Amino acid sequence: MSAADLGQGQAGRPVVLRGGTVLTMDDRRSVLRDADVLVVDERIAAVGPALDVPEGTVEIDASGGIVMPGMIDTHRHMWQTAMRGYGADWTLTQYFVWYYLTHGKVFRPEDVHAGNLLSALESLEAGVTTTVDWSHGLQTTQHADAAVDALESVPGRFVLAYGNIQAGPWEWATTPEFKDFVERRIRPGNDMLGFQMAFDVTGDPEFPERAAFEVARDLGVPVTTHAGVWGATSDAGIRLMHDNGFANADTVYVHAATLGEDSYQRIAATGGTVSVSTESEQSCGQGYPPTWQLRRYDIPVALSMDTSVWWSGDLFSAMRTTIGADRSREHMEAHAKGDTCTSCHLRSDQVVDWATRGGAKALGLDALVGSLEVGKKADVVLIKNDDSPVMFPVLNPYGHVVFQAQRGDVHTVLVNGKVVKHEHKLVDVDLRRAREAVGATVEHLQSTLGPEEWERGMNPEVPETEILDNPYQYTEFHSAETHSR
Ligand SMILES: [Zn+2]
Repeated sequence: MSAADLGQGQAGRPVVLRGGTVLTMDDRRSVLRDADVLVVDERIAAVGPALDVPEGTVEIDASGGIVMPGMIDTHRHMWQTAMRGYGADWTLTQYFVWYYLTHGKVFRPEDVHAGNLLSALESLEAGVTTTVDWSHGLQTTQHADAAVDALESVPGRFVLAYGNIQAGPWEWATTPEFKDFVERRIRPGNDMLGFQMAFDVTGDPEFPERAAFEVARDLGVPVTTHAGVWGATSDAGIRLMHDNGFANADTVYVHAATLGEDSYQRIAATGGTVSVSTESEQSCGQGYPPTWQLRRYDIPVALSMDTSVWWSGDLFSAMRTTIGADRSREHMEAHAKGDTCTSCHLRSDQVVDWATRGGAKALGLDALVGSLEVGKKADVVLIKNDDSPVMFPVLNPYGHVVFQAQRGDVHTVLVNGKVVKHEHKLVDVDLRRAREAVGATVEHLQSTLGPEEWERGMNPEVPETEILDNPYQYTEFHSAETHSR
């Protein structure tokens, strides 16, 4: 059955994925071989071998594949996706200068819409069924309406994390316009569009962010905050949040990479989650990807991609870099003591958990999504690619997901019981709409900035590399060749 057929053909019919290796991600991390997952309406109706299914059920052959819960990205600046790859060679400083200080304000509501639309489609395509839109380009509530319009036009699960880098949180969060927006667009209990408030705590001892925290508390919505970011946010912010009663179990700390023991203890004691964006931390310089520390404090972890200005919305990549950074650090810490690390603490099943269940817990959605269990909402991913030599043998399914599989292997995706990708193609999606919208935004940015500024932004200066004198270099030939590079 082709993707187009299925789009029209599913129309409320049950769906069964037959004969896959099922990673349930339940509390016991049960793995079922040659098992089925049955979806009826919005929910998982049964998981097990050779299931009986209702008449008219759509059958999807999952043999040779891995069936797992949809992945969850807990922090992505979706509005920036129209600039995909533009900042590939940036540091965090260059990002701040471009978006916060110089050009972030030229984004119009339609530009936020274009970025969100593309990013939302990218999520579904990559098997990311829930995405937090860390939307800090909302200069006006018209921008916020545009962000929500885009998210609601795509059949994924989203959480709008409302922010605005053009004003202090104590300013935008206390306006009547913001209150009105929340009343108009956010419905408590709507699990397809959740809500958070997104702002950072500078560490100013006057704690001006208090006013925004109070608004969040009055609305009963969680706060997500870039914490422990080298040169930007520090232990002082964590201390202020904790001392004032705003460090809560539903708080999400993004990065949390440059923090001391006292901050990690405060986060651990209050039950908050850290959203680790390993690819981001490795390139930008927020600090070393912190999972090796978080594990020691038993702080819950979720994963995230941060922004497609550098990276893509690909949680396979997040899993792979996160386990690599953690193990790399564990080896280096041992070497520093003259020891050899002979066994890794961090295992691939744990990283798959962070990409699925960990995200669900961070967002307070654990009762609904994050695992394949009867009664949960059906957000399901089938990884299967019969044309790929990398899809067999599947010996260690968690290891296969983390180190072998990639987004192109995502065969089928269901969100809330609806098939949104099938046979490697998005269902009922015309990419032309997104392509045109993003093209118009790129044109707007290029014409507003001018060609020189546009080029300069994309190509930051390269610091000089000092090449060391080489005592072994004694022939003319070697010398000439080395120095000409
Ligand atoms: Zn971020």
